[in-house]
Amino acid sequence: MGDSGASAPIRASDALLKKLAKIGLHREADLLVHLPLRYEDETRITPVARAFGGEPVQVEVVVHSSELQFRPRRQLVVRAGDDSGEITLRFFSFYPSQQAALSEGSRIRAFGEVRGGFFGAEMVHPRFRKIGDDEPLPTQLTPIYPTTAGVANSALQKLIGKALAVGDLSETLPDDLRQRLKLPGQARSLRFLHTPPPGTDLDTLHARNHPAWRRVKFDELLAQQLSLRRAYLARREQGAPVLVARDDLGARLLDSLPFGLTGAQARAMAEIGHDLAQPYPMQRLLQGDVGAGKTIVAALAACQAISAGWQAAFMAPTEILAEQHYLKLRDWLEPLGVRVAWLSGSLKTKAKREQLAATAAGAQLIVGTHALIQEGVDFARLGLAIVDEQHRFGVAQRLALRKKGDNPHQLMMSATPIPRTLAMSYYADLDVTVLDELPPGRTPIKTRLVADSRRDDVVGFVRKAVEEGRQAYWVCPLIEESEALQLQTAQETYDFLLGQFFGLTVGLVHGRLKADEKQAVMAAFAAGEIDVLVATTVIEVGVDVPNASLMVIEHAERFGLSQLHQLRGRVGRGQYESSCVLIYAGQLGDIARQRLKIIFEHTDGFEIARQDLQIRGPGEFVGSRQSGVPLLRYADLEMDADLVEMAREVAEGMLTEHPALAERHLQRWLGSREELLKS
Ligand code: ADP
Ligand code: MG
Repeated sequence: MGDSGASAPIRASDALLKKLAKIGLHREADLLVHLPLRYEDETRITPVARAFGGEPVQVEVVVHSSELQFRPRRQLVVRAGDDSGEITLRFFSFYPSQQAALSEGSRIRAFGEVRGGFFGAEMVHPRFRKIGDDEPLPTQLTPIYPTTAGVANSALQKLIGKALAVGDLSETLPDDLRQRLKLPGQARSLRFLHTPPPGTDLDTLHARNHPAWRRVKFDELLAQQLSLRRAYLARREQGAPVLVARDDLGARLLDSLPFGLTGAQARAMAEIGHDLAQPYPMQRLLQGDVGAGKTIVAALAACQAISAGWQAAFMAPTEILAEQHYLKLRDWLEPLGVRVAWLSGSLKTKAKREQLAATAAGAQLIVGTHALIQEGVDFARLGLAIVDEQHRFGVAQRLALRKKGDNPHQLMMSATPIPRTLAMSYYADLDVTVLDELPPGRTPIKTRLVADSRRDDVVGFVRKAVEEGRQAYWVCPLIEESEALQLQTAQETYDFLLGQFFGLTVGLVHGRLKADEKQAVMAAFAAGEIDVLVATTVIEVGVDVPNASLMVIEHAERFGLSQLHQLRGRVGRGQYESSCVLIYAGQLGDIARQRLKIIFEHTDGFEIARQDLQIRGPGEFVGSRQSGVPLLRYADLEMDADLVEMAREVAEGMLTEHPALAERHLQRWLGSREELLKS
């Protein structure tokens, strides 16, 4: 795109090209930004007699013998030496060409760590190269590149060297900006990292905080921001239905509720309401801790769409949650004259046909699971797509829902608060609204840690809660390795509790129940007909039964932090004092102990997420969205938080003020991988 240099192909044999493609190297320009993992010092030769222990060294030796052995396992054993002594080189896997290079009489340089083996000094799998007599030593540190089977480091080094000589390394940051940010030049930084001058300190290079590394990390983050920002702006170029309310449906819904909106909810609704009335599609994420009251905000957004004469779709990730939403929304909206349809995989053929017909004929609100995005589901006029617990869905699924309409507005909801730099990086193509206030009158949930040996006490807590008219959840141990075992455990827990809770009604719900069985149990629990609900994590997200005030979680040490937070969030939803009992068993490992401590000490989901990030790294937070984002290769979202902020700020202005530079920057740093970022 205006920059032919960036897309010039790599010149190599077809076989090599195929292997290079595996590590993302397609164009010459990709080679320029393929940076070393580390460096080795091959500028010196160490005599064999003095090569032992600690740091890796380079020896220059002549092969005395080369023998294929089969015991204790297949290996190539090479004896070689210099004037000072002899050394064994041992290879457990090798190509025929390598074996040939190691034949008797070959002069080689081998680089690796020397160990004192049973037969004297030896190197296992050293990197080596056959050389001629009097071959000069390199004068620079050797960059060691990430590579793949069959592509030697020296081959990569050669290709990259060529690319550096002929490739386009023109600066992509405007000068004034670069000076203000105090970053070194791009060409200089890349050259430095590929070919550090002799004498460069290895430690600084490896620590990756050298200014050249900072520049590279910044460039990478900038490319990510530019790409997301551009996708965001591109979507704005598309038209969308202008959803302006034509009657007072929303106001009537509010009037019918037993509560008023919190300030945060009202603010969120104002932002969403404004977006919906624009002629381009809303792309908004509504974030709010568990229990913050996202559903009513979504319902009000739906009202605006409906009142404007369009349909709204509301998709949730589990059958239980989707049905609960359906029942609640129907209760709220049908009395106001809204036609609500329900689509789930479990519908019987006839019912399904009716609901599909209603959807196509213009039912105003359609609630459901993934069933909403199946083929054969046709909407009459989809104007707003709402996705609850959005991190549970993949990029493709969210897109599929949007495709059911003609550029509908999109509202995504998530209770998984993610730390700021992560959000800036992964959600840069969305507008974000945060519900930072819980509805009033909630008494904080009390959390208790109880050892398994005191399980009788817990049985007592449950009895007491039920005597006071409340209900309890009892979550079965999580067994990630085996669903069958998980099921068996759930059944056993249920049987055990039946015995303990004589006189109480105990229910069981798990993932393997048929949808209508699940529904029946959940409905009975919601209606107060079940006192104690024994459950697997199928109740983890979204389930809302305000009368339930006690959550018991068995083997809490097996759950992740966000899971525990979600589960705990099932209680404390009404005006009753609520508590969460975490039963743990056995000796706790370090991580489990840390997790339980965090969940015990904190109730704020954001703080929990922040601490979780520290224990676990960013992977889990962004859920399946992350799979669409090529992992950053050089920058680290936690360590380089300041660079993330800088990149974001620069990206905003750069697209409009320096579009050609922005384009070249994207080409250079993302190239063909940019497609992957789209969602
Ligand atoms: P989440 O944000 O976790 O999806 P929900 O939408 O399920 O939360 O709301 C949690 C509970 O709080 C529900 O029972 C809901 O009816 C209630 N609720 C929501 N908003 C308010 C409010 N402003 N005042 C009182 N209760 C509210
Ligand atoms: Mg919810």
